[in-house]
Amino acid sequence: MSGSAPLVDAFNRRITYLRLSVTDRCDLRCTYCMPERMQFLPRSEVLSLEELHRMALGFIARGITRIRLTGGEPLVRRDVIELVRALGRRIGDGLEELTLTTNGTQLAQHADDLAAAGIRRINVSLDTRDPALFERLARRDRLGAVLEGIAAAKAAGLRVKINTVALKGLNEAELPDLIAWAHGQGHDITLIEVMPLGDVDEDRVDHYLPLGAVRDALERRWTLSASSHKTGGPARYLDIAETGGRLGLITPLTNNFCDGCNRIRVTTTGQLYACLGGSERVDLRAALRSDDPDGQLSDALDLAMRIKPERHHFRIDQRGATPAQPRTMSVTGG
Ligand code: SAM
Ligand code: SF4
Repeated sequence: MSGSAPLVDAFNRRITYLRLSVTDRCDLRCTYCMPERMQFLPRSEVLSLEELHRMALGFIARGITRIRLTGGEPLVRRDVIELVRALGRRIGDGLEELTLTTNGTQLAQHADDLAAAGIRRINVSLDTRDPALFERLARRDRLGAVLEGIAAAKAAGLRVKINTVALKGLNEAELPDLIAWAHGQGHDITLIEVMPLGDVDEDRVDHYLPLGAVRDALERRWTLSASSHKTGGPARYLDIAETGGRLGLITPLTNNFCDGCNRIRVTTTGQLYACLGGSERVDLRAALRSDDPDGQLSDALDLAMRIKPERHHFRIDQRGATPAQPRTMSVTGG
């Protein structure tokens, strides 16, 4: 057992950031994320609140300083606020930051509770402000609720970062307006290249948009300059002089960022995936349910450090190609 030794992988990367999926379920069905008839896990397989909490404490004991709760849609899990409160008590005591990634549909109900529990900033996914396109992309007519959620988060004092998957021929033309809107509201915004994770009903190749092309188009309109801003995630940031805001770019396909990876992900069933794009995993649920949960968990984390791969190998250039991994992002935890 390695007690409180920090987590360092075989490539000498210090792992300090945990993305913890609290549910694989979701109230939307974004076309690039999951099929309409998504098969969710039976509830019996999902970790209990106590298990999630104990596991998170085990990570903090091993030097994880930032935890992002995600899913699926974290706010559809009924007891998630209890977990947020319990982990919020560790902020300043091992944990530097607790954050959340949400689709925003339930944010209006929860924003005050999140802020009261110690969350300071959240990511909200929003691919379009056009109601018809939203319904086409999310397969649900919920744009109004998301916009209300974003406004409620701002009113609760939460810093909001908008996450937008850039999609050729879908939200491509709207991206400048979406960026200008986000900056006008005081929110940062990050664009993401669509990744080949899990089978969905459409072929992602059709709407894959490399962000280099988006940046070139934006440069014809605005003055962009590299920003030194860092959040601990994979985004690289640009300042836009005219909007006065910051634009993040996450480029898993066109500009690999694995050298600086500081992350691991745990699914809602307690499977630790050492890489979003890899199959290397360790079963933390078995460790948690053993007769020495804390010791076994710590040993499992050491194993995860030995098997974490150097990088992902995403490709998205061939129609009908098999995804890099069979798991959708909603399963691994986005
Ligand atoms: N449901 C929450 C949400 O949508 O924010 C949290 C989980 S979701 C899986 C996290 C992020 O992953 C979202 O911003 C979503 O747009 C993104 N995402 C999902 N599938 C993706 C894919 N195949 N490629 C790139 N981003 C993806
Ligand atoms: Fe749900 Fe988020 Fe996936 Fe959309 S991206 S289907 S909101 S988990």
